[in-house]
Amino acid sequence: MAVEAALAGSPMKTTYIGAVQSGEHDGEQVTLKGWVKRSRGNNNLRFIVMRDSTGTIQCVVKRNIVGDEAFTALSEALIESSLELVGEVKVDERAQGGHEIGVVSAAVIGGVNPERPFPITESAMAAADGGETEFLLDHRHLYLRTSRMTTMLQIRSSVFGAIHGYFRDLDFVEYQAPNFVAGAVEGGSTLFEVPYFGKKAYLTQSWQLYAEAAMPALERLYTIAPSFRAEKSRTRRHLTEFWHAEMELAWANNDEIMSHGEGVVRRIAKTLLDERSDELASLDRDLDLVARYADNPYPRMRYDEAVETLQGMGVDVEWGQDLDYSKEKVLTADFDVPHFLTHYPKVAKPFYHRVDPDDDAYVLCHDLLAPEGYGEIIGGGERTWSEEEILARIDEENVPREPYQFYIDTRAYGGVPHGGFGLGVDRVVSWLSGADHIREVIPFPRDSRRVTP
Ligand code: ATP
Ligand code: MG
Repeated sequence: MAVEAALAGSPMKTTYIGAVQSGEHDGEQVTLKGWVKRSRGNNNLRFIVMRDSTGTIQCVVKRNIVGDEAFTALSEALIESSLELVGEVKVDERAQGGHEIGVVSAAVIGGVNPERPFPITESAMAAADGGETEFLLDHRHLYLRTSRMTTMLQIRSSVFGAIHGYFRDLDFVEYQAPNFVAGAVEGGSTLFEVPYFGKKAYLTQSWQLYAEAAMPALERLYTIAPSFRAEKSRTRRHLTEFWHAEMELAWANNDEIMSHGEGVVRRIAKTLLDERSDELASLDRDLDLVARYADNPYPRMRYDEAVETLQGMGVDVEWGQDLDYSKEKVLTADFDVPHFLTHYPKVAKPFYHRVDPDDDAYVLCHDLLAPEGYGEIIGGGERTWSEEEILARIDEENVPREPYQFYIDTRAYGGVPHGGFGLGVDRVVSWLSGADHIREVIPFPRDSRRVTP
């Protein structure tokens, strides 16, 4: 009571629609705050479906109870007007969610100008057919309020939580690298150049190289941070700014790194089943598939075997090529769980991948490929860790030494075997939610054609 008294007159909110719909307030009088989702009625009676971040509920407004002034204001409130109302919670089997509000008093808090009604109409959404038209992308700031986007953002939040939980449970330290850098991690073709006080800098493509510098200090480290890549072609799996979960682990080999990749992805699937089953079901996602990804081990296959399999299927692929999406798609079509591909040819990978001491045509690396045609979600492996080998690899690849001097130094002072991986968080959200396009799962997607809104 003391708390309620203290809150009287404050805009702070104490009751959410989700709690009302789950039966926590049956028979009580509650104050609800939210937005108009739908409204219909006549001169004396209105049915307003109110939404907030936790759900929707039908509110029944009668002129003879709320009075003329409030009734008129509510009747004129357009879709997405914000409201505050006091009402009685009634259990009603016929109502959506099983509850209804008998409104006692109400006020419009933030109205909508009738000359500019909310543009994201049901017909605009139907035209997009679950995908995203330019119109919806142009109005992304408003589209975020629709149930599909809200659901995606809730699922996304649980994925971030699961990643933090996985690494923190294992005593990994969260560590931040700079976003302005001097050298490439993933090759020059996707580098974003930025003017930097008369010099050139780049936006980081990965946290990895700077994490390796802290590896001798922290041994177990991870991050979730944006990475930037100037991806020219627009695909369903590439953004120019994406969220990258990366880890680096001292004294670890390729197999151990893969076990962590498998561990974190299975933890994400398990967390979604625990926290977001209703949301996944509302997107028509098959929960049995998500459970399969949570419960089963992920097989490991060498690159050579993958290439032979593809060649056997009549796919035009040569040994030595990195497998692009067209190949991954064919290969993963029959997978029932994600699979690791290991031991890529040295010629297909950048200098920091450690050469296999058993056969120097290969590097000790891995990609994790998701099923259902989603393809690569993780890239990782062991790092070249001795000073002698890193210098040889840098020279062999014709990479300039100068921007990487700090990286070379980390090997000169007590190098140790280590490795890590990068996981594309948006790609994982897209796969586990069953989205058609990576754009659907990030609030403001960035690609080669769009930096607005
Ligand atoms: P791809 O061949 O699909 O472009 P990559 O080999 O360039 O991927 P890595 O450099 O290994 O990817 O990056 C690690 C992970 O980051 C990838 O497995 C993927 O999940 C994610 N990722 C990479 N580039 C992008 C991007 N442009 N947009 C979204 N996620 C990405
Ligand atoms: Mg790439």
